[in-house]
Amino acid sequence: MSWLEVENLTLTFGGLKAVDNLSFSVEPDTVYTIIGPNGAGKSTVFNLICRIYDPVAGDVRLGGESLLSAKPHQIVRRGIARTFQNIELFEHATMLENLLIGRHSRDGFKPLRELFFAGGQLEQELAHRRKAEEVIEFLDLQAHRHARVSDLPYGIRKKIEIARALVAGPELLLLDEPSSGLTTEETADIAFWIEDIKADLGITVVMIEHDMKLVNKVSDKVLAIAEGRFLAEGTAAEVQDNQDVQHAYLGT
Ligand code: ADP
Ligand code: MG
Repeated sequence: MSWLEVENLTLTFGGLKAVDNLSFSVEPDTVYTIIGPNGAGKSTVFNLICRIYDPVAGDVRLGGESLLSAKPHQIVRRGIARTFQNIELFEHATMLENLLIGRHSRDGFKPLRELFFAGGQLEQELAHRRKAEEVIEFLDLQAHRHARVSDLPYGIRKKIEIARALVAGPELLLLDEPSSGLTTEETADIAFWIEDIKADLGITVVMIEHDMKLVNKVSDKVLAIAEGRFLAEGTAAEVQDNQDVQHAYLGT
């Protein structure tokens, strides 16, 4: 039994099969990468895992337990955190504030005072703050602790997205195009952090990515999909050599 199991997953939007009978499984302590042309259904797979959408068929299991009974806000408690293809941070708050409200983001922006003293949850909030400090140190973000997110360069904001997900203390981290919009240098930096997240924090990573240099560097296994369907799975080299994958990209 694998750790994360996606089985015959299907979702339609109107007449469009965004995800079509897709199955794959992910072993713990690996980086598993999903590639595919634009519109292939990659982000939709993440939205299904995070319970944003209900599949019309299929199942998603983590450690043998189906996630389909979970509500979106319970996904973090099941050990899953994600980043978004487009950065979703509170632009006018500082980096630290973003990390502290990360867990509460679905409730909107609450003043810190309210977070710290709400319902006698002081202990929990202190633990959360310690975790935020740990992550800041781990990702080497100390210099930006009190900077307003909107004043920071795009590359740092992408990293803060990852930091915010890590503060939730996940066992499974879903990264949706971590390199999009980044320079070659910043992408190499992200590769380094992804490897550390796996090796040092023992977090399993499922990543959607276009930059094949990053894919080749960090992926233990690669899945290619197109039009919501499974195309090929294997090492990065195997998948890139696959004829169906080449046809999907070149449209031939
Ligand atoms: P990818 O991330 O691989 O680029 P997506 O998963 O975002 O692709 O989208 C897969 C397909 O589903 C696309 O054709 C997209 O237009 C469609 N789609 C995604 N989300 C919605 C939605 N909420 N409503 C309607 N169609 C959607
Ligand atoms: Mg996408």
